[in-house]
Amino acid sequence: MKNILTLSFLFLTAWLSAQVKSNHGNKFEQLEFVLPDPTPYRGVDGAPGPDYWQQRCDYKIEATLDVESQHLYGTEQITYHNASPHTLGYLWLQLDENQHQGHNDLHHFNGSDMDQIMDARALQMLEQWKDLTQYGHNIEAITDAGGKPLKYTINQTMMKVDLPKKLLPGEDFSFHVKWNYKIVDRIKGPRGRGGYEYFRKDDNYIFTISQWYPRLCVYSDVTGWQNKQFTGRGEFALTFGDFEVKMTLPEDYIVASTGECQNYEQLLSREQLGRWQTAQTATEPVQIVTLDEAKKNEAGRKSKKLKTWYYKAENVRDFAWGASRKFVWDAMPHYNENGKKAMCMSYYGKEAYPIYSRYSTRAVAHTLKTYSKYSIPYPYPVAISVEASSGMEYPMICFNFGRAEEDGTYTERNKLGAIGVIIHEVGHNYFPMIINSDERQWSWMDEGLNTFIQSLAQAEFDNNWDLRRGPAHTIVSYMSSPTDQIEPIMTNSDNIVQFGMNAYAKPAAGLNILRETIMGRELFDAAFKEYCERWAFKHPTPADFFRTMEDASGVDLDWFWRGWFYEIEPVDISLDSIAWLKVDLENNPQPREVVNTDKAEKPFQDISKIRNRESGMQFAVEADPDLVDFYTTYKPWETSDSVQTTRTTLYDEVFDKKEKQEKFGKKNYYELRFTNKGGMVMPIILEWTFADGTREVERIPAEVWRKDEEKVTKVFVKEQEVKSVKLDPYRETADIDEKNNSKPMPTTPKFIQVYKKNKVEQVKNPMQKARVRP
Ligand SMILES: [Zn+2]
Repeated sequence: MKNILTLSFLFLTAWLSAQVKSNHGNKFEQLEFVLPDPTPYRGVDGAPGPDYWQQRCDYKIEATLDVESQHLYGTEQITYHNASPHTLGYLWLQLDENQHQGHNDLHHFNGSDMDQIMDARALQMLEQWKDLTQYGHNIEAITDAGGKPLKYTINQTMMKVDLPKKLLPGEDFSFHVKWNYKIVDRIKGPRGRGGYEYFRKDDNYIFTISQWYPRLCVYSDVTGWQNKQFTGRGEFALTFGDFEVKMTLPEDYIVASTGECQNYEQLLSREQLGRWQTAQTATEPVQIVTLDEAKKNEAGRKSKKLKTWYYKAENVRDFAWGASRKFVWDAMPHYNENGKKAMCMSYYGKEAYPIYSRYSTRAVAHTLKTYSKYSIPYPYPVAISVEASSGMEYPMICFNFGRAEEDGTYTERNKLGAIGVIIHEVGHNYFPMIINSDERQWSWMDEGLNTFIQSLAQAEFDNNWDLRRGPAHTIVSYMSSPTDQIEPIMTNSDNIVQFGMNAYAKPAAGLNILRETIMGRELFDAAFKEYCERWAFKHPTPADFFRTMEDASGVDLDWFWRGWFYEIEPVDISLDSIAWLKVDLENNPQPREVVNTDKAEKPFQDISKIRNRESGMQFAVEADPDLVDFYTTYKPWETSDSVQTTRTTLYDEVFDKKEKQEKFGKKNYYELRFTNKGGMVMPIILEWTFADGTREVERIPAEVWRKDEEKVTKVFVKEQEVKSVKLDPYRETADIDEKNNSKPMPTTPKFIQVYKKNKVEQVKNPMQKARVRP
C-alpha cells in the first residue's frame, strides 16, 4: 500500500513539475532575495558599512605545563571591550577542551553502522565516549577585577559568565579565569586539534597547545553571540585582541608560539642568541637550535628546573604554541612590499629534519610572498611552521606534517605533501586569521578561499605541480556523485558529509573557474584583493564576499553564486549535433509571395470600457460629431471587408555571381546544438581544428543560456573548413561527462541560398485606406 501511494505521489509530482516547466528557469535571476538585506553595518557593495562595529578582547595569560602529568594550568585576565551598540548582560566563552568530555551531546551526533569484518579500534570508537572521564576544562574560579566571584553556567563547550552589572556600549569589563585541563594524546586518542605526541623511542613529547584557554565567542551584527557548540568539526569564530602570554615549563623545552618572544636573552644560550641575531638579516634559514643540539637535548637527562617564555601578540584572533625537547629551530626574514619584516621560522624534530631543514622555512617565506600578492601584505612579525605530524592553523603559527624515512630518505610525494601542507596552513594566516570569517558557520570561507590561493602559491612554487585541489577538473568525480551525497557549499560546517570536497575542493575549483574562465585574471585578482583589503581584521560573511566580487569587477556573478554555491547541479554540456552549411554560389532563391489574412472581429468590450461608460464619463467624440472619423464609423465585421489581406513579395534582389563568390565563397557556417545536461550553466568553450591543422579556442559566455537554460543552438562562421571541434579542451569548467564533448564533423556541406535584401512590397486591403477621412 505504501509503495503504491509513494509511486502515485511520485508520478503526480513528476506530472506537476512537467506541467509548470518553462524553458526559462531562475539560473540568471538576481540573488537579492537570497542574500541578507544590507544594513548600516554591511553595505550593499559588500564593504563594511558606515556603522560597522566589532568587539575586541585582550588577554593576559600565565600557563604552566606539567610534562609528567600532561596537564596544563592557567590563569588569565580577560578584558572585553563592548564596541557594539548593544547593552550586554553576560558574556559567552568557548571551552573547546570540553569536546573531550564523554557526557557531551557531540559524541552522539553521528550515526554508525556495523560491517561483517571490523577492526578493534572501530568497535572501540562506538563507545569511546564512555572512556572520556578525565578530560575537559576544569574551571577553578571566575572573579571580577576586585576578586569577587562571578556567576557562570557551563553548557557543554560553551560557558556563560553573568556580568555583575550591564555592560553598556563603549564600556570595558575585566575579569579573571583560573582553569586547568589534562592534555589529550592526539595520536592515540582522543583526537583533537591540540594535544601531545609521545615518542616512545626517545621518551619525549611534542606538545601542540591550542584551543587551550577559555576565550570569548564572537558577538556580531550577524549572529549576536556565536555560541553554537564545538563538535570537533566546525572550527572557530574568534574576536581580535592583544595577548600577553607567559608559559612556564622545564628549561630543556624549546617553545614555538604566536607572537614575539620578549625574553630570548633569558632563554637561549649566548651562541643561540648570536645565531638568532644572524638570522635577522639572513638570506637563507639559519639554525638557532641545530640538529646536534636538538639530539643532545632530547637524549639528555630531563631537567626539573623551570623557565618562563614570555610572548606578546597584537591584533590576533587566537594564540597557540608548541613545545618540545626535540625541536630544531631555524629562521630567516621575509620582507613584505611595504618593507615590513616577518621572521619565517620552523621547529621540527630529527624525524622531519631531512625535509624541514631544506624546505619548511623557505615554504613559509614563499607563502607570505604569494599570499601577499593576491591579498594584503603580511602584517604580522613572525610566521611559523611546526612539524607535528598533522596540520592545523593559528595566527602566526601552524602545525604540519612531513617526516622522512628512518634512513633520512623521502619520496618526492612526501616532500610535496609537506610543502603543500605548509603552504596551506601558513596560508590560513590570511583566511581566517586576518580575514576573520566565522568558521563555525562557513568552512568554505576559510578552507575554500585558502585552498584556492594555496593552489596559486603551489603553481608559483613549481608550475608542474600536479595539484589535487584547485583546478576545475579535480572536482569532477565529486560533482559526478549521486545527488544525495552532495550538499551545497552554502551548508553549515557541521552538516557537511563530504567535507574535503565541499569545503575545500569545490569552492577552490569555483574560484579558479571564475579567475581563468569567467572573469579573467585581471578582473578577478583585483576584486579578490579588494575583498581582502576591505575585510582584513574584520568579520566578513558570504554575502560580503559575493557582493564585493561583483562590485569591484563589474561582472554579474549572481548566476555563478547561485549555481556553484547555493545548488548542487554539476556541469555537463553536451554537443548534440553539428551542421555544416555553405552558400549556394550557383542558384538564387526564387521570388515568393506571402499572403497574410486577417479576419476582422467585433471589438471586445473589456471591463474598463464598460465601467467608463457606466461611470458617466463624457467622451469627446460623442460630444463633438466633427471628431467622429473612420475608426468609429467603419465596422468591417459588418461588411464584405471582413477578411483583410496583406500581400508581401520576398527575395526580390539577388547577388551577381562574382559578388556572391567574394562575399560568401570562403564562409563555412557551423550550426551547433548544445544541451545543458548537468544543470549548472557555464561558458561554452570550443576548440576548432581547421583543415590546415591550425587551432582556435572560442569562448561563449554562460549568458548564452539565459533565455533557454536547457538548449542552445548557435552558429559559428569560419573562413576555413573545420576538421574537428571539441568542448572545453582545457577541462576548465568541471564538465563531468567529456564523452559528449565532441561529435564527428559532417564530411559534406549543405547549401543555403542567399539574397541581397527583400524589397518588401506590401499590399493591404484597399477599402480600408479609402474610408479614412482626410
Ligand atoms: Zn585548512
